[in-house]
Amino acid sequence: MNQPMISLESLFAPIDEEALQKAATSGGCSSSSCGSSAKPEDMAEDVWDKIKDHPCYSEEAHHYFARMHVAVAPACNIQCNYCNRKYDCANESRPGVVSEKLTPDQAMRKVVTVANEVPQLSVLGIAGPGDACYDWRKTKATFEQISKEIPDIKLCISTNGLALPDHVDELATMNVDHVTITINMVDPEIGAKIYPWIYYNKRRYEGIEAAKILHERQMLGLEMLTARGILTKINSVMIPGVNDEHLLEVNKWVKERGAFLHNVMPLISDPAHGTHYGLTGQRGPTPMELKALQDKLEGGAKLMRHCRQCRADAVGLLGEDRGQEFTLDQLPETVTYDASRREAYREIVAKERGDHVEAKKAAVAEVKDVATDAKLLVAVATKGGGRVNEHFGHAKEFQVYEVGPKGIGFVGHRKVEAQYCEGGWGEDATLDTVIQALVGVDVVLCAKIGDCPKDMLTAAGIRATDDYGFEYIETAIGSLYAAEFGLETSAAVA
Ligand code: SF4
Ligand code: SF4
Repeated sequence: MNQPMISLESLFAPIDEEALQKAATSGGCSSSSCGSSAKPEDMAEDVWDKIKDHPCYSEEAHHYFARMHVAVAPACNIQCNYCNRKYDCANESRPGVVSEKLTPDQAMRKVVTVANEVPQLSVLGIAGPGDACYDWRKTKATFEQISKEIPDIKLCISTNGLALPDHVDELATMNVDHVTITINMVDPEIGAKIYPWIYYNKRRYEGIEAAKILHERQMLGLEMLTARGILTKINSVMIPGVNDEHLLEVNKWVKERGAFLHNVMPLISDPAHGTHYGLTGQRGPTPMELKALQDKLEGGAKLMRHCRQCRADAVGLLGEDRGQEFTLDQLPETVTYDASRREAYREIVAKERGDHVEAKKAAVAEVKDVATDAKLLVAVATKGGGRVNEHFGHAKEFQVYEVGPKGIGFVGHRKVEAQYCEGGWGEDATLDTVIQALVGVDVVLCAKIGDCPKDMLTAAGIRATDDYGFEYIETAIGSLYAAEFGLETSAAVA
């Protein structure tokens, strides 16, 4: 069988048409490592099958696969103090205005267009801008149409949980096997500080009474999903001074009720967003406060740490948003689904992913061999594929890993408001904001970095190197760690 000839650069942004074409016609992968699996040993095969290509449910998959949200569900049945209806649903988004709301027919046209042009696409989600279960008619019509056209696309919804129990059976029938519920409390007294009102059974409730109903419906919905084998992710917004410590209790409750993942997200609060919290000065947590809470939660329900709080109309790999390339006015009037590019991409990724798994195992073993208790927080500039493959000045975010005696673990990401080299040259003022975003980080790994930003980072106590450019992230981190604390010294960061 022919091995598709591809380069790593051709694999990730932009996709190389020729490589995809070759993969589409190669008849399979002949690599010895093809078929290596990142499946955790204690995970059942059927669960692994559901998550292995899902960028949100598998941290490893998020290097390779993309999601898209369609904004078909604008109505909501509760008020959260961190939400302004003009903005995306904070269940699954950062506060940015949804560019346009779609009808199910328009959503269909958009999803098929994206599937034809973004071969990484594996997941279609409905995450607002209101509540996907409350605005059920549109959610259902959208999923029904699209799953007929693209049967292998994974369907996801995000909900506040109030209307969820009414639709669990239909979700199961429609093969929606990933549901996110935003659960910020299990104590209605705390809930009353987060939710001023809910609308339930044609009546408006306020205060503790409202929070109690919401809590009971959320728990019921979670239990019903678990009973049907639907994987449930719990999103919790961390609100310092309101529910931060309480999230330990939330984690316990949702674990007991079968939640698959717990995703603690920082409150994003700004007066400009017009939310209650924004206008009253409620702050969000710092990245280090978020990490400290996530560390305390380790050992409970499994944590998701790679969430990007995407917009309700996001398109692309996590950390990138190509939504503006697919606005309604740019979509063709009619479009037919062509499966070949997505199939070809999957074939290329199968080999690359197998190699990555092997490299990761070797890197973790290397780290564990080093006789030290030292830990490092390492920020990586990457544009996908699990590689150190982004120029420092072009990075829109850094993925942060902790390396230490226990191995190498992903701990989060740091967004960069503006890229250092946005206009083709470096801006000192922009570098200050990048340095701010990297507070607490020991070392930055990137594909390329100039002397000037490197020196400024060093002055801020952050070392940076491009010595490990284009290596797998874990290989790079393992080599860095061994060079710093092991016997090898050749690649130590100056
Ligand atoms: S559930 Fe979503 S749309 Fe509704 S108020 Fe809360 S954040 Fe906003
Ligand atoms: S908001 Fe988080 S969970 Fe939802 S699509 Fe984005 S990364 Fe995935």
